[in-house]
Amino acid sequence: RKAAEDERKDEPAVTTDGHRVAVVANIGGVEDAQEAMTKGAEGVGLLRSEFVFLGRTKAPTEEEQAEVYADCSRALQPGQPLVIRTLDVGGDKPLPYLPIPAEENPFLGIRGVRVGIERPEVLRAQCRAIMKAADAGAELNVMFPMIATIEDWRAAKKIWDVEADRLGLTTKVPVGIMMEVPSVAVMARQFAAEEGCDFFSVGTNDLTSYTLAMDRGHPKLAAQVDPCNPAILALIGGACDALHERGKWLGICGGVASDPQAVPILVGLGVDELSCSIPAIPSIKAQVRAYSLEQCKELAAQAVLCSTPAEVRALVPMDEA
Ligand code: PEP
Ligand code: MG
Repeated sequence: RKAAEDERKDEPAVTTDGHRVAVVANIGGVEDAQEAMTKGAEGVGLLRSEFVFLGRTKAPTEEEQAEVYADCSRALQPGQPLVIRTLDVGGDKPLPYLPIPAEENPFLGIRGVRVGIERPEVLRAQCRAIMKAADAGAELNVMFPMIATIEDWRAAKKIWDVEADRLGLTTKVPVGIMMEVPSVAVMARQFAAEEGCDFFSVGTNDLTSYTLAMDRGHPKLAAQVDPCNPAILALIGGACDALHERGKWLGICGGVASDPQAVPILVGLGVDELSCSIPAIPSIKAQVRAYSLEQCKELAAQAVLCSTPAEVRALVPMDEA
């Protein structure tokens, strides 16, 4: 089966009734971008930009960053999109040049975009670096991690807009929101109505943790932190409906996008893009091709009515490879 999947890895992922789903990669650097191309990725749905910042004593300069983002973009095929997530660190992952006081509860504290809003110098420089790479020809999108409130979004977007004005940005860089806090999924309608908000990407890893109030790394709880929990699927489905009404698209960049068992359900919920781990790309494309959109919608409708993740998973039987 794997050989058959590999053979078609460079073809688009289209359901049997003609519905296309974008299949892109999650990457953490330039080498990943190159590797993603060899697996049939149609672009990058999540560049975890932390790799530019970690393991150094000084912040990377704007020029250094612009260079790296441009290199990642050049590794893709012309016209393929690259979504850069702004720095996602916090109390649990401090940087020497960006001291954040240790917190008792770092996952509910100053992390993700909250760092950028509280200590904006690093986020401002990163925004300018992304803009410079875009104006030099890279096909870039930007998104902010850990947005929880409309005020978070407006504060982050303001930082972006001020830097765009200062720099005289001439290229259109779509700006998006990571949906990884339940409030954003619940209020998708209001977020979609915000000016200048172009797209959404669901971080199911954090979304699942925050919805179930379970740490995904907890030894006793990790097994229950399943993104196929009907609560998570209902959040994603509701958000898709609200966003599509406003003409905004929604991708998934959390781990569930790499789970073939979840794929038909996600497609049926209305997800437009699956951003996967690099090795998963051929099999995820194959799984999209194995269903019709009608079948996917039927599965999604059943999944949100299930009571447990096990019931959801039983809807999509998987034969062993
Ligand atoms: C997520 O939370 O699903 C996500 C993609 O972000 P990270 O795994 O980097 O926290
Ligand atoms: Mg996350």
